Amino acid sequence: MTKKSVGYVNMLWTCPRCTTRNPGPQKYCNGCGAPQPPDVAFEQAPEEKLLTDAEEIARAKAGPDLHCPYCNGRNPATAKFCGACGGGLAGGKAREAGKVVGAFRSSPAAPVVCARCGTSNPAASLKCAQCGASLAPGVTGGVPAAASATPTATRSARRVPVILLIVLAALCGLAVLAIVLFASRTTETIGVVDSVDWERSVAIEGLQAVEHEGWQDEIPSDASVGSCREEYRYTSQQPVANSVEVCGTPYTVDTGSGYGEVVQDCAYEVYDYQCSYTVEEWAVIDTIVSSGTYGSPAWPSISLASNERQGDARESYSVVFVTDDGRYTYTPESAAEFSYFPIGSQWVLELSGFGSITGVEPAP
Ligand SMILES: [Zn+2]
Ligand SMILES: [Zn+2]
Ligand SMILES: [Zn+2]
Repeated sequence: MTKKSVGYVNMLWTCPRCTTRNPGPQKYCNGCGAPQPPDVAFEQAPEEKLLTDAEEIARAKAGPDLHCPYCNGRNPATAKFCGACGGGLAGGKAREAGKVVGAFRSSPAAPVVCARCGTSNPAASLKCAQCGASLAPGVTGGVPAAASATPTATRSARRVPVILLIVLAALCGLAVLAIVLFASRTTETIGVVDSVDWERSVAIEGLQAVEHEGWQDEIPSDASVGSCREEYRYTSQQPVANSVEVCGTPYTVDTGSGYGEVVQDCAYEVYDYQCSYTVEEWAVIDTIVSSGTYGSPAWPSISLASNERQGDARESYSVVFVTDDGRYTYTPESAAEFSYFPIGSQWVLELSGFGSITGVEPAP
């Protein structure tokens, strides 16, 4: 994210002694003359207008104000000596800065009704035009304090489900154990080779024009490029070429000087050209198969054209045994293994609990 400064606005502070609302830049209370204490924070104004006065903007940019180490008086960041007591500000404490106080309030706020006399005042007013009462929220109880109705979490009995889960887990464990035991239990039986099958296939590949889609800079150099169109590619956190700036809602940050800085977090949506392109690629255009139910397996004979090449070669074998309790199929790994099983030969078959052959041994 890139932080963009939109401008500066006035903030407020409420005097803890007399509840008067004061403009942020003002260091002494309008109502009672007391200095703003270091622990009284600036508040967001109900209605915010961007400052246009260059001098004010310069003061807003100067940094957080300093509180005098001797009298606690508030001084601008640039001051060397306290305006109230004349003491050196070298050991002064800078006001806190950087806190986000809220979304930028650029639109007119609702009028404020005076809690003392009921007069409606413009939102930006600091005190009632009729009676002079402070318009700070909650000053005279005119605004009801937000009811803190935090629902108390009721602790339901969680024990029963836990026990249930443990029982379920135990049952699952037992089931797995049973399956493993069942599968590992083997039996032996005599089988006679009843039939055999082999199949060998060779793929024929040819060069073919294949269409793809891709970003301009990712297209292979030997491709023929078709149509292109501009599309969103990614979001950059920094400004870059060919991007569209997308900014979030502006918000106000306390600068500690009595002014707030209105900032916006912006990202940059980068657009680029996506094109269709065609490249020549090897693709399977045919598969030649030879198979048999006896004899020795052989590869199919293939003849390749000038723009063709041989692709993957595959082989598969199967042997079917007849036993006293049914037929079982075994798949030898290789042609060499396959050759051990002439039709009519006898074997000792090791069968798993699920009825698949896990081992074969020549019958004694
Ligand atoms: Zn005051
Ligand atoms: Zn001082
Ligand atoms: Zn009033």
